[in-house]
Amino acid sequence: MAYKDEQLNEEKVFKDPVHRYVHVKDLVIWDLIGTPEFQRLRRIKQLGTSYLTFHGAEHSRFNHSLGVYEILRRIIFNFEKKVNWNREDKLLCLCAALLHDLGHGPFSHSFEKVFKLDHEEYTRKIILGETEVNRILLKVDPGFPQQVADVINKTHEDKLIISLISSQIDADRMDYLQRDAYFTGVSYGHFDMERILRVMRPQEDQVVIKESGMHAVEDYIMSRYQMYWQVYFHPVTRSAEVILTKILHRAKHLYLNDYAFKQKPIHFFSFFEGDVKLEEYLKLDEPVVMYYFQMWLEEEDAILSELCERFMNRRLFKYTEFNPNLQMNQWMELYRLFQEADIDPEYYLVVDSSSDLPYDFYRPGEEEERLPINLLIPKTNELKELSRQSDIVEAISGKKRTDHKLYFPQDLLDGMDDNSQIKKRILEILFD
Ligand code: CA
Repeated sequence: MAYKDEQLNEEKVFKDPVHRYVHVKDLVIWDLIGTPEFQRLRRIKQLGTSYLTFHGAEHSRFNHSLGVYEILRRIIFNFEKKVNWNREDKLLCLCAALLHDLGHGPFSHSFEKVFKLDHEEYTRKIILGETEVNRILLKVDPGFPQQVADVINKTHEDKLIISLISSQIDADRMDYLQRDAYFTGVSYGHFDMERILRVMRPQEDQVVIKESGMHAVEDYIMSRYQMYWQVYFHPVTRSAEVILTKILHRAKHLYLNDYAFKQKPIHFFSFFEGDVKLEEYLKLDEPVVMYYFQMWLEEEDAILSELCERFMNRRLFKYTEFNPNLQMNQWMELYRLFQEADIDPEYYLVVDSSSDLPYDFYRPGEEEERLPINLLIPKTNELKELSRQSDIVEAISGKKRTDHKLYFPQDLLDGMDDNSQIKKRILEILFD
């Protein structure tokens, strides 16, 4: 029997808090889960620094990837009689779902920013490079690794398969919203996925939703909206991320200036130098990063050790509303005052801006072209874009919201002499 057709003698199940069980029958899937590259995802948290705000949020990208796979498995089952998929098409869906986040590194957001990395590029490298994952995919078919990479990359010719994994209503989002809600413990983020799966229909190259399922989709869109503002962009989480980012900046700066680290950060060398080979990329997971932060507590460099101490012991920066575009003069004055107070503003005065577009219909030529969610009107068999039918979705459609915050070490300011003019002026600007 061809490798791609082989089934396990007995179905394997993973107990899952969101989907109850994740079912695996295909040998290919089972083998992929067992690779070092996939197992590594256990050591990358799904929500980065969110656990410092929501202590339950320690779940990993491993959990999430299995969840996306399970949702796809159910969709394939529902679509069985409606699409002409052969064995390889189905495997393609499942593999792309399982592997879509394979290239995520530790604390992706901060690492990508500081070291100019792109996790999608590493996903491709892992799938196409000399890895266990690649060897398994090759056994399916010599062209199969490329196909999987193309689906994840959204360049594959089968647009239906792409839309199941990345669109405005896809398996990825449906898993992470529910999973992140579960692990953070918030009440937003829950919606009726079972219902959505039942009303999803494949139609040529897209997935559409039966009109009767509109309210379930509204609920899903609102869940996403709430999760972004209540969880993903939580100002305390961003404070931890700001500190993490500054630690990486400082360590890189020291390395490039020949600072003699007590503990040589060998795992970081290629990151600092800006040329990260796949092999090195895969070795740096979150436990390794935390090991270095622990070691850097002992470093001579006061900024590096102080920032690590903050991160390890959750002594985070405080924040205030601050729009740098409108408050340029205050920003420049604060920067100067911090310098005078001997608190390096490069590391201790940080503006962070987060923005989200909850849903949008297709606007040709705009920077972010998005495929709309279409409702299928059964009587006439025509398609109608969601925001035309739903008042709730229309209200938030195309509305990008941005939040600017200024982060600073309140404790250091508190420690300054109360009679200091510098302190008075800083507080005046920050809290006026
Ligand atoms: Ca994902």
